[in-house]
Amino acid sequence: MPELPEVETIRRQLEPWLQGRRIRFARRVDAPAGPKYDGLERAAGQRIEAVGRRGKFLICPLSGGDELVVHLGMSGALRSDRPSAHLRVELELTGPAPHRLFFEDPRRFGRFLVVGGGDYRGLPTLARMGPEPFDEAFDAAAFHRALDTPTPIKAHLLSQRPVAGLGNIYVDEALWRVSLHPSRRSRSLRRSEAAALLAAIRAVLGEAIALRGTTLRNYRRVDGGRGSFAAELAVYGRQGEPCPRCGRAIVRTVLAARGTHFCPRCQRGHAQRTGTTQRS
Ligand SMILES: [Zn+2]
Repeated sequence: MPELPEVETIRRQLEPWLQGRRIRFARRVDAPAGPKYDGLERAAGQRIEAVGRRGKFLICPLSGGDELVVHLGMSGALRSDRPSAHLRVELELTGPAPHRLFFEDPRRFGRFLVVGGGDYRGLPTLARMGPEPFDEAFDAAAFHRALDTPTPIKAHLLSQRPVAGLGNIYVDEALWRVSLHPSRRSRSLRRSEAAALLAAIRAVLGEAIALRGTTLRNYRRVDGGRGSFAAELAVYGRQGEPCPRCGRAIVRTVLAARGTHFCPRCQRGHAQRTGTTQRS
């Protein structure tokens, strides 16, 4: 699933193309009517004022006060060439070519809809989303407060509540960088650990944006290119390979119903916190 670095890469590609352009129409193609594609008829005649992002959502304010909201889900892609299958939404712009934007989504977990500005009642993840990781007003103290829950740290970060934009890849990578076990209870993190984790989240996301994201299976840029952060991954998808820090084999387990990768030596988890001598 595309996470913040992939969505930000796509946003940066779309911005010079879409910003300031007027929409002739937006319509559903090979998809049933429903909330995933709500309000598309309202887009006609409105100008795209900006191409923004909030967590993993693209949000484009429109001149009539509405917002075009796109979530790529598991497999969504935005492109200027017509896909041969799985075309869910077609948007036509006025002005010079390329003047069609296509939303292709084989697995249909994505969304492409128009809502009233700031009206996220149908988008609960967006409505309850935590701060942007690069928001300068967001600091370690606020992040530490947002961790006051017994939920395991990995699941809590995936919820988007303490901080926006993380998915499976970058959560696993950030937790490895600060040697935290993914099942640590969020509220057991000390202030210093929360500060280190926030710094690691910012670092890994920043590095991934610089390399235009991680292409594993589904993510493609608007121009069809691939992100190159996959070569930098320390643990994600690397089960059985040596930990880059200590050499122990990386383990894959399932946590919060998601494949989870960690180093059993560097990220020991509860034993480390309670002072027992249990070792695997
Ligand atoms: Zn290790």
